[in-house]
Amino acid sequence: MINRNKNYTNLAKGYLFPEIARRRKEFQKTHPDANIISLGIGNTTEPITPHILEGMKNFIVGLGTPEGYEGYQDDSAGKPELREKIATVIYGSKIKASEVFVSDGAKCDLGRLQAMFGSEVNVALQDPAYPVYVDGTVMAGAGGKEPQTENGFSDITYMPCLPENGFFPDLSIVKKNSLIYICSPNNPTGAVATKDNLEHLVNFAKSNDCIILFDAAYSAFIQDTSLPKTIYEIDGAKDVAIEMQSFSKPAGFTGIRLGWCVVPENLKFADGSSVQSAWQRITNTNFNGASIIAQAGGLAALDDEGLNEMNSTIRYYLENGKLIKEAFEGENFKKCGVEIYFTGNAPYIWAKFPGKMSWHIFDEILNQCNVVVTPGSGFGPSGESFIRVSAFGHRENIKEACERLKRFKL
Ligand SMILES: *Cc1c(COP(=O)(O)O)cnc(C)c1O
Repeated sequence: MINRNKNYTNLAKGYLFPEIARRRKEFQKTHPDANIISLGIGNTTEPITPHILEGMKNFIVGLGTPEGYEGYQDDSAGKPELREKIATVIYGSKIKASEVFVSDGAKCDLGRLQAMFGSEVNVALQDPAYPVYVDGTVMAGAGGKEPQTENGFSDITYMPCLPENGFFPDLSIVKKNSLIYICSPNNPTGAVATKDNLEHLVNFAKSNDCIILFDAAYSAFIQDTSLPKTIYEIDGAKDVAIEMQSFSKPAGFTGIRLGWCVVPENLKFADGSSVQSAWQRITNTNFNGASIIAQAGGLAALDDEGLNEMNSTIRYYLENGKLIKEAFEGENFKKCGVEIYFTGNAPYIWAKFPGKMSWHIFDEILNQCNVVVTPGSGFGPSGESFIRVSAFGHRENIKEACERLKRFKL
């Protein structure tokens, strides 16, 4: 028989979201009449907007004609016109089209990137963090030989991000030659790194031979114009950073699947070879490009009309976020000593229940309000005592959830 791959055996038991689903199902079984509202998983709910939809529709109709049909693309990195449009519309030409690699989403890129850096690389990540960073690291064999302990995986440097440090990590604990995962706007805390934060990060990476994996999946949610929407707003970032972005959250492409990463041509491995060439080689081997239908949607999304549509979808979700924040500011929560963090630049509310365990709060909110949230401890040890509440939802569900939250007590 074949041995199980040790790297996969080491994965932490029960990915966070299946455990949430299990508890929800269990509750529904014992309370069949409960109408559960999920503010748990960060999944989009609002329909694809007209202009973006039209772009895909027209392209699909074309596929049914001899002139409009297309098969495999020449380059797995995406349609040249989409790469060009991302470079100009999103990056104001600070990035070349040849540095943009269109993909089936940021999550998929994260997995492939970690695989490219391999099992020997040092990894540092924010704690709490999007669970994919840790799991991708462990699957690539870079988490350490032993399974997870209370403090996480032995070979991963966890950088606490707490209210005390403004949710931006102390980089001094990061080893030289590390891959540093940074997510801004952050899932789950909603915090956005400032220009000063990112300058410090880029300088640190340069002096310590690190590469930054900058997850900007929520970039389009940033409303505060003083905050950087991409790491390439920082001088020198092209020497040290790869950035991931996605159409999932701003355009509702969570099911359609489309994102990209920027792999700058200056980026080098220790032996002087090009990271971009390695990435090209890898993606040409194990990825045949994003769906051309999704790419047609992406092109429409970056038209003026598409950008306006995405902005109104984003404002809708952020308005939800404001309503949820207000619900948590109620007297009943004040009595529990709740500290609430909502930046208005990300679709998440991050709330601390001092002295309480995240899963306990999860269970209480499910039991009392029939609302599903996400326990902060699922995002890392520093997430303990917090919950994450997602602002993705239909307005009437959000309002109903807020009404029910008013009755919550501990
Ligand atoms: C949703 C999300 C992604 C995944 O995006 P896809 O493009 O749908 O794969 C990546 N990073 C973070 C932080 C996310 O929350």
